[in-house]
Amino acid sequence: MLKKELLKRHIFGKVAAYTYIIEFQKRGLPHAHFLIILKQGSKMYSPQAYDRIVCAELPDSHHQPYLHSLVVKHMMHGPCGAMNPKCPCMRKNIGCKDKYPKEFNESTRHSSNSYPIYKRADDKKTVKVRAHHLDNRWVVPYNPYLLSKFNCHLNVEVCSTVRAVKYIYKYIYKGHDKILYQLNKTQVDHSFDEIKSFVAARWISAPEAMWRIFAFDLNEIHPSVTLLQVHLENKHPLAFPENRPLESLLQNPTSSTTMLTEFFAMNRQDDHAKS
Ligand SMILES: [Zn+2]
Repeated sequence: MLKKELLKRHIFGKVAAYTYIIEFQKRGLPHAHFLIILKQGSKMYSPQAYDRIVCAELPDSHHQPYLHSLVVKHMMHGPCGAMNPKCPCMRKNIGCKDKYPKEFNESTRHSSNSYPIYKRADDKKTVKVRAHHLDNRWVVPYNPYLLSKFNCHLNVEVCSTVRAVKYIYKYIYKGHDKILYQLNKTQVDHSFDEIKSFVAARWISAPEAMWRIFAFDLNEIHPSVTLLQVHLENKHPLAFPENRPLESLLQNPTSSTTMLTEFFAMNRQDDHAKS
């Protein structure tokens, strides 16, 4: 349904390219990281354009009571810092890894960082979340339409530099989750060998197992991108059995072709490939 909203109904504009990955977090529930590149004409360049898509403030509880309740339920960070030093986002010496609370800002503007600085007015509005009163500085950026539609945590941001793009790609290639486990006998073995009993295993939670059994996509890149091994003409690597005569090797026509040379060949012959 989210893909339909983004890619077919074009709620943010016409999409030129996209990629997403499904990740399974510690308690096993699926979580998608989605990166969309908009077509020229739909691209956002101004803070006013960002404001049409991303909001980082508490909505008015009288005019938008439903949206307000969803922001309180799903989009408030923490509290962390001095109010809750044990919050999972807290890191030694640096504090909150997501840098909350953010600063108040009268209007949205560009920043030298990966993401714009969103409008967070000091309007004295607060909500009580996990026993603390939080204001606009604690709101995780969201899109009002998507949040209302899906009623779940759904962070929407404008990625204005390549750093944010890199972050998404990192998720695709980092590999599967792992776990370290140990099987205990009922009787405690005093000659316990830590190295022998070390078992590093792959971890698949029940929701992930279900996702894979049903063969749902775990990631997608559109348009598809394939890495080609680049080489100079006739300087490509060739693998062959040691005892094979060199002559028969050279007579074999496939010896002189690689994925790259075939890519060029296809582009010469095929009209679809040319376009
Ligand atoms: Zn935090």
